[in-house]
Amino acid sequence: MAPVPPLNDRHGRTITYLRVSVTDRCDLRCRYCMAEDMTFLPRADLLDLSEIAVIAERFIARGVTRIRLTGGEPLMRGGVLDLARRLGGHVGRGLDELTLTTNATQLARHARALVGAGIRRINVSLDSLDPNRFRMITRTGDLDRVLGGIVAAKAAGLAIKINMVVLKGLNDDEVAAMLAWCVAQGHDLSLIETMPLGAIEDDRADYFMPLSAILENLAQSLDLTRDDRRTGGPARYWRVGASATRLGLISPLTANFCDGCNRMRLTTDGRLYACLGHDDQADLKQALRAGGVAGLDAAIDDALAIKPARHAFAIERGGRPAVARHMSVTGG
Ligand code: SAM
Ligand code: SF4
Repeated sequence: MAPVPPLNDRHGRTITYLRVSVTDRCDLRCRYCMAEDMTFLPRADLLDLSEIAVIAERFIARGVTRIRLTGGEPLMRGGVLDLARRLGGHVGRGLDELTLTTNATQLARHARALVGAGIRRINVSLDSLDPNRFRMITRTGDLDRVLGGIVAAKAAGLAIKINMVVLKGLNDDEVAAMLAWCVAQGHDLSLIETMPLGAIEDDRADYFMPLSAILENLAQSLDLTRDDRRTGGPARYWRVGASATRLGLISPLTANFCDGCNRMRLTTDGRLYACLGHDDQADLKQALRAGGVAGLDAAIDDALAIKPARHAFAIERGGRPAVARHMSVTGG
């Protein structure tokens, strides 16, 4: 068995969290995420699911304790439940937690299998509770179907965190209502600032909404208490009154927390990105196929060595995306 050096970067951070994009494809076209007419990765370039498992297992051996399956829409990839079952078998044996981020369109039929695979918590994207707005933002989405998926997930025993990208003029007036709904349903809520990833039709500056303004607004009518727990991500958290709901603010543009970053991201074509906002990557597919586990370790170390101190996001009118790849490629 090859030795297992821990994943320490040159800025004193230790990687304990891997996000795995199992597909860059999606049945929705959220307007801040994707262009309407997207070109997806050629299928021949993708890792097969057993390769994803081998890579993920190497990360577990090297100290990763949390893995999130994401995409694109992870439940669109055939065989993803087999992958979840295999990785779920490591929970309690090196892995603390396996999670999933989904748009919930396929959740109703998969929720129980996800629990069976060892998943206990999921994130669900939901940017509006108004059917027409939901369709406008997602371009094709059916709100009832998504809500049905969320109900099934809750019934199956999954804890749910709703992800809402707050967009000025599109859904920023709905944040209080979304939070009230989450409190009533027993879900957590994460509010997210739109990030400049990948080319889309719109200018993201037109609907960029700093979350500091949203927080100020919410605090006028709600009892929000700061919760200092950090997860190594960009989120800051608040307790909402006496409810069980935790409100998270993911503000990579207005409140940078890269100093505590503990994560790396694997794309479905086998590239390992040490930072969401930079182009540097290591080709783990090639490394694994040519050099087995030793090759994999060397490529992971290469990516670790170039993990930057922080992202360089900026949202400027007419500005170009910070990186050309969409969030759906890197894995949100
Ligand atoms: N399809 C799944 C979903 O929507 O939950 C998983 C992948 S999606 C890329 C993961 C998260 O990234 C979602 O919550 C989505 O809203 C968010 N996201 C996508 N593009 C984004 C962007 N440009 N800026 C901020 N968040 C983005
Ligand atoms: Fe698909 Fe998720 Fe991107 Fe929406 S945010 S287009 S659901 S990958």
